[in-house]
Amino acid sequence: MIKIKVSEIFTSFQGEGPYVGTPATFLRLYGCNLNCEWCDTDVSTYEILSVGDVCEILISQMEFNNIKTLIITGGEPTLQMDEIKGLIKELPKDIKIQLETNGSIFDYITEIEYVISPKENKEKVFENYYKYENTFFKFVISSQKDINEVISLKNKYNYNKTIWLQPEFSQDIEITNLLRENFPRLENVKLSVQTHKYLNQR
Ligand code: SF4
Repeated sequence: MIKIKVSEIFTSFQGEGPYVGTPATFLRLYGCNLNCEWCDTDVSTYEILSVGDVCEILISQMEFNNIKTLIITGGEPTLQMDEIKGLIKELPKDIKIQLETNGSIFDYITEIEYVISPKENKEKVFENYYKYENTFFKFVISSQKDINEVISLKNKYNYNKTIWLQPEFSQDIEITNLLRENFPRLENVKLSVQTHKYLNQR
């Protein structure tokens, strides 16, 4: 029996990124392989559940709330990618599944969409995923250097799809102003704001 380490399951609006505002059920998996200084996610506690039990909880929560989107997040969910693949096999096929990942563990499958937020080795992460249709990139921006990195990746890989730029929350106003100053150099970008934090939601 496949087991998954689950930190929490809840239903809310997606607060950030390309699908901001979408009602969704969230499956937050335990653990991360990185240690970002501004990390705001508590994945210190977890329960070990069978894939069957997780599936049952998700389906009942999604049916009750009339939800069609499942967001698998973390931490870093790809640490449990085999378990995720087992879960996907058991879930109804009409559920849209998105995976929020830092992209450091490359594991691409066609059944899901990826929202990739590279934190380390950003170019390698970008190179691995940028050519796939169902991938979206969201970069946390905390400095001019971060903006320069995004611009150079867009140019080097001739990437014309939208990229979401998310000001690091503790300096949200300053970084938004900095992004505005960079407008002449930015193309096909959108601002991603962590709306759930302003609204005191999960
Ligand atoms: S990758 Fe995400 S969850 Fe992991 S430490 Fe960084 S911000 Fe936190």
